[in-house]
Amino acid sequence: MTTISNNLQGVRERIVTACTRALRPSHSVDLLAVSKTWGPEAVREAFAAGQTRFGENYIQEAVGKITALQDLPLEWHCIGPIQSNKTALVAAHFAWVHSIDRLKIAQRLSDQRPTDLPPLQVCLQVNVDGGVTKSGVPPAQVLALAAQVAALPRLCLRGLMVIPEPAADYAAQVAVFAQAKALFDSVAAAVGPMAPHFDTLSMGMTADLEAAVAAGSTLVRVGTAIFGVR
Ligand SMILES: *Cc1c(COP(=O)(O)O)cnc(C)c1O
Repeated sequence: MTTISNNLQGVRERIVTACTRALRPSHSVDLLAVSKTWGPEAVREAFAAGQTRFGENYIQEAVGKITALQDLPLEWHCIGPIQSNKTALVAAHFAWVHSIDRLKIAQRLSDQRPTDLPPLQVCLQVNVDGGVTKSGVPPAQVLALAAQVAALPRLCLRGLMVIPEPAADYAAQVAVFAQAKALFDSVAAAVGPMAPHFDTLSMGMTADLEAAVAAGSTLVRVGTAIFGVR
């Protein structure tokens, strides 16, 4: 086994263990492998070990990689900040976007999504712990943005994404993720009829995936524990 395939195995075991502790079925949490800064060969190795969903932060870097790996049936997720001048690239190359934090970006992605591709699957990024320097829509504005995004014709609203500040310990991590889960449930109830596929709570990374699973994450985004330290 290669290092990457060993690491992937280890991360899958962490997810299963966390699910068992939380009395959740292990298939209720999926793994997004965050391959930012790593080359196409690392992604090929992860694919050979069974991983098909990959997350990228930097649009330009990602497009090169996506193009180089077109022979593989991979699903690419944009998880980084998106500026207006990059929306056309994102709309053309990704299957998912987790980092929608304003209507203008969502509108452009919908307008620019190529007609030969299925709708772009999107999550709203929420600034759940109020970090002042962070991107993400404030919790109080999530519902309004969700209703607007759900109405865009070429987007499919799938859920919420959060990146909390590093917390002191496990209990503090769970507390923040639990706030995200409560918000997710209330948005799901409110926009349900408009967004029938609202099923994804994207939270948890290498350092805090156990806490995220305990609080209700459905998709953890893991880079370091799979590919190594960047
Ligand atoms: C880099 C990154 C990750 C992965 O973080 P690790 O700590 O390496 O697991 C997850 N989500 C986002 C948004 C990131 O930028």
